[in-house]
Amino acid sequence: MSAQPVSGRRRGWCPGVRRPMATGDGLLVRLSPFGGRLSADQARLIADAAREHGNGHLDITARGNLQIRGVSDGTYPDLLALLDREGLAEPEGDGPNRLTVLSPLARLDPNDRFDPYTLAQAIESKTAALDGLPAKFFVAIDGGGSMPLDSVGADLHLVAGKDGSVVFGLPSSGGLDRIGVASFADALDAAHAVLSNFASLRRSGRTEARRLRDLEPYLVQELAASAALEPAAALPSRPPAPRAGVIPVDKGYAVLLALPFGRSGTEQLAQAAAWCERFGTAEIRLSFTRGILLAGVPGKDVPMLLDEAGRAGFVTDADDPRLSLIACPGRPDCASASTPAPADALRIAGSCSDLLADGTTVHVSGCPKGCAHAGRADLTLVGRTDGRYDVVPHGSTRDISTLHLSIDEIMTCLLPAKTRDSLHRAFPERVR
Ligand code: SF4
Repeated sequence: MSAQPVSGRRRGWCPGVRRPMATGDGLLVRLSPFGGRLSADQARLIADAAREHGNGHLDITARGNLQIRGVSDGTYPDLLALLDREGLAEPEGDGPNRLTVLSPLARLDPNDRFDPYTLAQAIESKTAALDGLPAKFFVAIDGGGSMPLDSVGADLHLVAGKDGSVVFGLPSSGGLDRIGVASFADALDAAHAVLSNFASLRRSGRTEARRLRDLEPYLVQELAASAALEPAAALPSRPPAPRAGVIPVDKGYAVLLALPFGRSGTEQLAQAAAWCERFGTAEIRLSFTRGILLAGVPGKDVPMLLDEAGRAGFVTDADDPRLSLIACPGRPDCASASTPAPADALRIAGSCSDLLADGTTVHVSGCPKGCAHAGRADLTLVGRTDGRYDVVPHGSTRDISTLHLSIDEIMTCLLPAKTRDSLHRAFPERVR
């Protein structure tokens, strides 16, 4: 059993279990379980494997995947054999390792207007043999409940309309652009039509776009027509998904635990496995908010779980200022990084606690890919090859910036800013 590590600089690839990616701290092996769900036994096995075959660091990604870091050429074959044997390796082939992303509350959320889990299963099953979908392609399936998926930046978003219909949307800088709506009964066929016709456009050479959002508008209209989508009304507005806290659900409570920068140690994953057996449903759910959700926790056990999780280094409170700061692994862990994103983020945390406590979101990215956060933040810093940052107030890593500053210069600008509203004075020439 062997696999060719993929260079972190090669475009269009996604690392997986069968295709590890060579990066700054060794090989990166990414697991993509359906719905982000892992049994307690699987989570423990992965924690043990990361300790034995990697450097003990794990990441939860902004799609709810789990990455084992620091694997070596020598340890990789045994890790692959183990994960394959346990059914944790993705299917063979060049398509997406996992096509769908769900809220970790799927099938628990009393506010969902359709069952996103069932629709996701059906879409994955129907499109499994589809040839021509790019490896990075994914679909967010959002039942309309308490954890909106708007920020994940999927190729295609399927979101519950007011009446339980399924609105099809593409991400844009202003939110989701609605391309049409189908009834829930027709949503599977409509989604399949959009995906298969996009793959067909690529196979025929009519487009080279790898993401739906990069398609010419007339081709998007063609896809919507091929799926018989009707014009869609506006979606109900919802507050952004919480990143930590206790959420009442159909049976008991869901406890969402956040990890600073999405980084977990093997002990933390093993502890989460133990907690879900002790307090919940013997299953953990990896969240696109870069944390872990434990479901089915009885109310009487919530305080004890929160206490233990806090002492184990998890963030348990949605108002914790650490949640305002987002960073990717950066240099030296990521070979594509131009800047030490987590270290620079911690400098900001150390000196700008008032700003973060006021809820100002700051995203520090080692390069323009924006792995840690696809959406907008109050302040986005994008690592440049010259070691400085592109400074993007009220935007995302995809926005163009004309302000390029070193982290020292950024700190000087930020220090007087104490509140979110005062951020406009820190970088006045770029604030819209
Ligand atoms: S965004 Fe960060 S983790 Fe992603 S490729 Fe760039 S530097 Fe690496």
